[in-house]
Amino acid sequence: MIYKNLFPATEENIRRAAEIIKEGGVVAFPTETVYGLGADALNPKAVARIYEIKNRPSFDPLIVHVCSIDMARNLVSEIDDISLKLMERFWPGPLTIVLPKRNDVPDITTAGLKTVALRMPASQIALKLIEFSERPIAAPSANPFGYVSPTNAIQVAETLGNRVDIILDGGKTEFGIESTVVMYHEGNLYLLRPGALEVETIERYLNLKVLEFKGNPRLSPGRLPKHYSPKADVRILNDWEDYFKSKAVYGRVGLVLLKRKTVFGFKEVIYLSEDGDVKEIAYRLFDSMYKVDRMGWEKAFFQRVEEVGLGRAIMNRLKKASGIAD
Ligand code: AMP
Ligand code: MG
Repeated sequence: MIYKNLFPATEENIRRAAEIIKEGGVVAFPTETVYGLGADALNPKAVARIYEIKNRPSFDPLIVHVCSIDMARNLVSEIDDISLKLMERFWPGPLTIVLPKRNDVPDITTAGLKTVALRMPASQIALKLIEFSERPIAAPSANPFGYVSPTNAIQVAETLGNRVDIILDGGKTEFGIESTVVMYHEGNLYLLRPGALEVETIERYLNLKVLEFKGNPRLSPGRLPKHYSPKADVRILNDWEDYFKSKAVYGRVGLVLLKRKTVFGFKEVIYLSEDGDVKEIAYRLFDSMYKVDRMGWEKAFFQRVEEVGLGRAIMNRLKKASGIAD
């Protein structure tokens, strides 16, 4: 299959893409987490196209990508000391910080919320795209709403195709899982979404416990129970009995294991890593979900990981893929 809008992320093509952003177009581009679908964050019409292309409900706000702390300052009414410390320490990188927005950030970008989620990506391609376009770029993951986030350009092309003005191909993304989202509010730092930056790393740096956000899910819609899911029915493997019963009932049932292991008698097995390395498991998680669908499995049993460090983000995505609220 040839995609007419898929181009290697050369300097020249990044400049072309930046022009498209300036003109109100929509560009898919790699970040170090997953591929994003970006538009000028301050142009409501351009942002509306993102929602349209993704079929994303209008209550799900976008993350705005910046290329400097100064650019972030221009979008918010204030930055508290903790958020500033986090920016200085972890930007560029996979940390999104939610702050009170300025009036000129359009409501559609934040889905009507009075806050805006900001991140400075570490990917050179993403940074150049923001720099060349001289605008903050609003970008959710570049997949149809509810489906699995893409970690390579082909996955974007296959699911969004020609609806995007240009797709910059920068190869496979470094982390393969989305950013960690936090918000500071009245003396507490809240985790809105676990992600590629480990919560423990933030806690150690600030010497502060990061609290689970137990508030209204409307305030952080990544918390919707069903999200990030392939077409196959995803189940988290609790005991082998369940798996064997399913095999008797269903046509195509497969196993997704954390590490390479010989499982006799099963053809349908995917390994997420060679030896259980959690970074590798995160890196391959979404790919394995694309693969499950490509192979036409009806049901996929995923082995669980321990919910510490990156394991939190992995289990969060698995629970969402299986429709279990976290
Ligand atoms: P994504 O689809 O990966 O871009 O995820 C964007 C997610 O960031 C949303 O689903 C929310 O969880 C979070 N987010 C974005 N903007 C805000 C905001 N203003 N307040 C709270 N969470 C936000
Ligand atoms: Mg997404």
